[in-house]
Amino acid sequence: MAQKTNSGYQGKILDIIKNAGCKIGDIILVEKEDRIYEGTLIPRSEYSDNTHIVIKLKNGYNLGIRITSETKIKKIGQGIKPSFTVPPLPKQNPNLPKVVILSTGGTIASRVDYRTGAVRSALSASDLYGVVPELSDIAQVQTEIVFGIYSENITQTHWSELAKRIEEHINQGVDGVVVAHGTDTMAYTAAALSFSLQNLPVPVIIVGAQRSSDRPSSDAAMNLLGAVQIAGNAPFAEVAIAMHQNLSDNVIAINRGVKVRKCHTSRRDTFKPVNASPLARIVNGKTTILTKKYLKRDPTKKTILKPNFCEKVVLVKFYPGFDPKIIKYHIENDVKGIIIEGTGLGHVSKYCFEAINTAIENKIVVGLASQCIWGRVNMNVYDTGRDLLKMGVIPLDDMFPETALVKLMWVLGQTNQIEAAKNLLKTNISGEFSPRTLPAEIYKQGDFKDDN
Ligand code: GLU
Repeated sequence: MAQKTNSGYQGKILDIIKNAGCKIGDIILVEKEDRIYEGTLIPRSEYSDNTHIVIKLKNGYNLGIRITSETKIKKIGQGIKPSFTVPPLPKQNPNLPKVVILSTGGTIASRVDYRTGAVRSALSASDLYGVVPELSDIAQVQTEIVFGIYSENITQTHWSELAKRIEEHINQGVDGVVVAHGTDTMAYTAAALSFSLQNLPVPVIIVGAQRSSDRPSSDAAMNLLGAVQIAGNAPFAEVAIAMHQNLSDNVIAINRGVKVRKCHTSRRDTFKPVNASPLARIVNGKTTILTKKYLKRDPTKKTILKPNFCEKVVLVKFYPGFDPKIIKYHIENDVKGIIIEGTGLGHVSKYCFEAINTAIENKIVVGLASQCIWGRVNMNVYDTGRDLLKMGVIPLDDMFPETALVKLMWVLGQTNQIEAAKNLLKTNISGEFSPRTLPAEIYKQGDFKDDN
């Protein structure tokens, strides 16, 4: 029974493992159809099928082997239970910039859970530091765990809490802040911090990983090194995301927090700037700043903290056949703001007009962003757009729907005056509106024009 709960193996497959005298961590030989595989027997997900065993090969990759009546399993080495011991922290060099790493969870702070075989949050910021000792060559690193959760569990309350912790560290005199965060909702948090932390004296760099640090292809160490380097030394003081720019393991792109999006479910270069260029790039440890248009690092500046977010704001995607009752539902639910993700230049079906009008009459702020990735809303071109403008819908230019959602939550956390809220929504706070649309080359993966 203990074997079952510890390993994830059960039933027939567990009997086969037991009969061969094997335990988790043993080095085993598996002979199947004239092929021999050697590796360490590792636990697997308790939710998986009942026909495979999983071994970790010498090269670090895991291999699942389907066990048939012909398969032979033999133990050839003693079992050592997989474990992780955090290495001691490296020495600090007092001449280097001071950077604090705040950990919130996500893959960057994860390892394989040997109960379920799945990845779980397990590393604190100081563990991360121990795992990447090279950090001590670029900064004096201080660490703190703020949360230990996957980013899908992050809410407005976490954004507020995080913004407050960042402000406290900045007031204590750090030269830069790094936030280790899950990638799934990283761009939302980046937007939230961009609005809630204004007049920053130093950079706030958010970093994550698509592959956990116990995998050979992990991007955790390189992303973290890039983030700490930028946080400690960049001439700009903005909220940005530092992650792989392309699939090679030596280029990190630093993108402004309000203009970056997670675009791929699994690739390490998942974050792409949209209607924007990266702020900087690090190639083989060397930083190039790619724009002159940024807010300057200036330790004499005092951070302005505005950490309140309104929870009664929703993002509604329009699609063919959309039922306007969804908007009515939100009105009845007493929302204060609605961002509509419309089609193309900023449209929704005329069947939604009545519901939208009711929302506006009920003093709900209604903004419209496009579900196209590139380009900007222009509601003056077609009569549908003009009708919506006339109703009082606010066109949101080239602001992403996700950024617009976070911004409206933040706006309605600052004021409950409808006109003031509308004006604040339209004001460029952190570069969320770009002055111009970049040329078509920007679409190409990893191929960005420098914006000098
Ligand atoms: N879904 C988790 C998160 O966003 C793991 C993915 C990741 O960290 O990249 O925290």
